[in-house]
Amino acid sequence: TPAASYVGRFAPSPTGPLHAGSLVAALASYLDARANGGAWLIRIEDIDEGRAVPGAAGTILEQLDWLGMHSDGEIVWQSRRKDLYQAARERIADWVYGCGCNRREIADSRLGVGPDGAAIYPGTCRHGLAPGREARSLRLRVPESGDDAVGFTDRFAGWQEQRLALESGDFVLKRADGYWAYQLAVVVDDAEQGVTDVVRGADLLDSTPRQIYLQRLLGVPTPRYLHVPVVRNANGEKLSKQTGALAISPGPQGRDEEAAVAALQQAAGFLGLRLASPAPSIRSLAAFWQEAVPAWASLLAERGAQLRLPD
Ligand code: GLU
Repeated sequence: TPAASYVGRFAPSPTGPLHAGSLVAALASYLDARANGGAWLIRIEDIDEGRAVPGAAGTILEQLDWLGMHSDGEIVWQSRRKDLYQAARERIADWVYGCGCNRREIADSRLGVGPDGAAIYPGTCRHGLAPGREARSLRLRVPESGDDAVGFTDRFAGWQEQRLALESGDFVLKRADGYWAYQLAVVVDDAEQGVTDVVRGADLLDSTPRQIYLQRLLGVPTPRYLHVPVVRNANGEKLSKQTGALAISPGPQGRDEEAAVAALQQAAGFLGLRLASPAPSIRSLAAFWQEAVPAWASLLAERGAQLRLPD
């Protein structure tokens, strides 16, 4: 664990190779770490072993290497850290309960869905399982409505606030399929790795209040957050392997540096970075990074976003 005053990270789920969308998140987190003189870590979020695609993590690591983004610490794999998640769950045992509900039952309660599209949990098993029911998943109790607002200042998006009781309900820490939930794993890992600054896609803005709530229960620090816009396809969908994202790759001739620079420039353009040199004139990765780091700092300043918020 690097003892720097800035520790950032990129935490891809290995569901496919890095694509134009995930590259934007990687680039933003890397630039923010470099612009702040900090460390940058790579964490493979393969906790959902059902969704992990064999070989995808290796491909992502190769792609990052090809682009010149190297982890400043050992690469961490969530699938090897289950003891940490179990220990965290034990620390907050008073807030955790077994839930016997299935998806259909939760949907039938018609509380609607939260901002992330997940059905809001009505609290059915909060005070114990009904006779004859067995726990399928573990859920975390959130405060009663009225006492449940969790807010934070996102460095890009500004003040954000969510009422957990209304917008998520008690949420899953361990899933019915036996895997630990993303929300728990990400909080445990960010804390354990000493992450001070989370820079990621805005699709996770809505998860942040749940993560902050978990951090408070676990008594770990809350990092600063910066959520960058998400790349969407022509149908307005977030890019993923399924929605036809073009995979970026070193190319058939091996590690083509100009192709790497072109991929990075495209991601930089999406973020709105203004590089000093016009696009085709940057040929080397070194030249790209040299221009991109100060361009990131200027971009934040222009947007009125702080390079860093005071602690
Ligand atoms: N693993 C998540 C994803 O690939 C990112 C998690 C995070 O950055 O907090 O969408």
